[in-house]
Amino acid sequence: MSDPVQAFMKGITAKNPAEPEFHQAVEEVVSSLMPYLDKYPKYREAKILERICEPERVIMFRVPWVDDKGEVQVNRGFRIEMNSAIGPYKGGLRFHPTVSLGMLKFLAFEQVFKNALTTLPMGGGKGGSDFDPKGKSDNEVMHFCQSFMNEMFRHIGPNTDVPAGDIGVGAREIGFLFGQYKRLRNEFTGVLTGKGRNWGGSLIRPEATGYGAVYFAAEMLATRGETLKGKVCLVSGSGNVAQFTVEKINQLGGKAVTLSDSSGYIYDEAGVDSKKLAFVMELKNVKRGRIKEYADKYKDATYTPLDRERDHNPLWNHKADCAFPSATQNEINAKDAENFLKNGVYVVSEGANMPSVPEAIGQYLDKRILYGPGKAANAGGVSVSGLEMSQNSLRLSWPREEVDQRLQGIMKAIHEQCVTYGKEGDWVNYVNGANVAGFVKVADAMLDHGVV
Ligand code: NDP
Repeated sequence: MSDPVQAFMKGITAKNPAEPEFHQAVEEVVSSLMPYLDKYPKYREAKILERICEPERVIMFRVPWVDDKGEVQVNRGFRIEMNSAIGPYKGGLRFHPTVSLGMLKFLAFEQVFKNALTTLPMGGGKGGSDFDPKGKSDNEVMHFCQSFMNEMFRHIGPNTDVPAGDIGVGAREIGFLFGQYKRLRNEFTGVLTGKGRNWGGSLIRPEATGYGAVYFAAEMLATRGETLKGKVCLVSGSGNVAQFTVEKINQLGGKAVTLSDSSGYIYDEAGVDSKKLAFVMELKNVKRGRIKEYADKYKDATYTPLDRERDHNPLWNHKADCAFPSATQNEINAKDAENFLKNGVYVVSEGANMPSVPEAIGQYLDKRILYGPGKAANAGGVSVSGLEMSQNSLRLSWPREEVDQRLQGIMKAIHEQCVTYGKEGDWVNYVNGANVAGFVKVADAMLDHGVV
């Protein structure tokens, strides 16, 4: 870490103790920005960096609800309204037992830069709860969502803050949240994205993050005159992002050979084709089962349970060309990165947010591989959320092809911005590119608005 970065981080860690994910996200961005700030002192004079790291507002609240046995449960709810310089706060809700203030601040911080890259007018936010939907009945999930919205509704709105889904928040949860908002406000507005298709949702929104991560990989490969055709791909996770990553890899002629959940992973050398993917979608989205059942059904595939004692995850230790981490933060450690680089991986496109630890990223940059960091590569989801907001305002619904075309155009534009700000000789440092491009757009708006 250089001295100015170290000095800045000292202030951040002192002011935000016990928030390691937030420190990690800030340090990565600040390391990219320091040389840029040296060139353009106006940002330092206006203390833009200090201001951009401080949420505009943090809301924390009690979420009481009653389970199927009649017992009272209490969870904690959050909404981080990080930055609204270029548009209403926008970012997902995460329901997972590991959710904490620091984790959501990291996600909200990343979201500010990501949303700026999309070319759409969206600020950054994130929220959620330590509620675990796993193993809960639909009735329990509904009661939890209603109680969560009983507090959230007063802080959000189509021109203020527009949440969406994330880990543990899919179509079912968005439906329950929207239903309660509509009841409390007595109005039908686009206050959440990821809505059902027959009540204001956009076509392609469920597909958008996974499709976008694959489009971004295709853009990176195009800089070397290559395509995804015939490429072997490692994919982690088996939720929303992973499923549609595999679908688009298949459509572009690649082959996905792995999928995982928090219990373990499957390896299928023949590839997860469209028939097997339909099985995974039914298994995960309807039956809410475990990925192990894939290997029970398809006997040529192997299942390896997760062993937390191991110093690496064997999912990342197979011969491949591309990696699409699509599960969660810090899922690729230094050893995992070493393993897949040794096995031939030279494209990493992050569907998940911050899935690579800093030491892994260091290796990608040293080896000058094609590395698309999450805030660029997974921006497709929030981009189509932005398009959902536009369609809601127009009271129109665009056809599938139109939304997909716009998504492709946006991923192309994000890639171009990364190239503009990240080109180093004949190689592109997409980390610096994404961080600086996102920063400039937000920072210039903040300068225009004065000290607010
Ligand atoms: P889902 O809840 O649909 O799926 C998450 C998947 O990751 C599941 O397979 C889950 O397994 C696995 N997973 C979650 N936590 C862990 C963990 N601690 N260890 C191992 N595996 C884990 O979420 P999404 O697909 O929506 O999100 C995946 C990632 O993509 C997240 O980082 C999210 O922030 C990011 N993202 C999502 C966007 C979206 O539009 N949905 C947009 C941009 C980024 P299990 O079921 O066992 O928990």
